[in-house]
Amino acid sequence: MSCSLLARGGFVGFLCCFITASTNAAPSELSIRHWAYENYTRVVFEVPRDVSPTIRYLPSDNKKRRPERLYFDLIDVKADNVKIEVGDGVVRQIRSARNRPRRTRVVLELDRYVRHRSLTLSNPSRVVIDVYGISGETKIEEETKKIKSVIVVDPGHGGRDPGALGLSDVKEKHVTLKVSKFLKLELEKRGFEVAMTRTTDRMVSLEERTAIAQAKGARAFLSIHANAAPSRNVRGIETYYLDRASHKQTLRVAARENGTIPAKLNALQTTIAGLRISENARVSLELAGNLHDAMTQGLHLEHGPVADLGVKKGPFQVLFLTDIPAVLVEIGFLTNPKDAKLLRNSAYLKSLSTHMARGVDRFLTKHESVRQRQ
Ligand SMILES: [Zn+2]
Repeated sequence: MSCSLLARGGFVGFLCCFITASTNAAPSELSIRHWAYENYTRVVFEVPRDVSPTIRYLPSDNKKRRPERLYFDLIDVKADNVKIEVGDGVVRQIRSARNRPRRTRVVLELDRYVRHRSLTLSNPSRVVIDVYGISGETKIEEETKKIKSVIVVDPGHGGRDPGALGLSDVKEKHVTLKVSKFLKLELEKRGFEVAMTRTTDRMVSLEERTAIAQAKGARAFLSIHANAAPSRNVRGIETYYLDRASHKQTLRVAARENGTIPAKLNALQTTIAGLRISENARVSLELAGNLHDAMTQGLHLEHGPVADLGVKKGPFQVLFLTDIPAVLVEIGFLTNPKDAKLLRNSAYLKSLSTHMARGVDRFLTKHESVRQRQ
């Protein structure tokens, strides 16, 4: 299966392929997809169950004429011997081969390598490896010079993933799409270019959602969600940025949004703990603050008291997978009668998106003026 999507920007070369080799009698349990851009390549390995392989780096070996490589092993995964020529200037080739009775080794041969990062995802089980040909900071700076003001709006869930189920059978995926479309219009009114991760009721993987943001060199990534809780009394708006968290309610929200269960967040939390506190985390917190304040203050003036649950940190996979300022907004609880009524009201959703757009504008204007003064 081949697919074509995402990259409209002239500077982005785009290639996606999906390979399920089927030469052996037993069907292969490993499928490999890759998205290739100018200086950055994302490779996704879909496997039959959750795994946590160690990704290792090998320097080039001139004597044996071997380039730099990344590799990892999969145990007890039925995989054919596969060779995929990528040749995008960053990753040369991806191959897999059984090198012991129960072990398959997966190798990425590299042409240009500065750093990589990896993450395992559940449901379906995947290993994601991002390989950078130049440093992320340089890339972001270069791309923002070319496209100054693209914002990615990410309506949560879609297709066979309905997200949270609310009162009167309201599905989160429909609410998030509706708000996101309003938000797109509001941001466009303010002169921004908007890329949506989906515009119809379709399933989009978490890594594809952020690949869109990375490819566009976007200035901000806004993931729009609606909440659910076991108690009908819980209501309100909360805005998340990426970090470890221990609060029970936060972990429940993060697990649901990640498509997993709270117990499985540990690996992600450990990975996040290993990250240096980056500039991006600080800027994401600032974006979250601007967006959240604009939303809650604006809604308060127009619609009365707002249940303000604040800006919080949480281990969200969709936020982990991107290098640009990224936040996840939970616009209300579909399980609370008051919130559910508001979230069914188009006038309220329009007003919500107007204030969100104002918050994003405030954030980006501040950063643009800082950039111009430098
Ligand atoms: Zn959601």
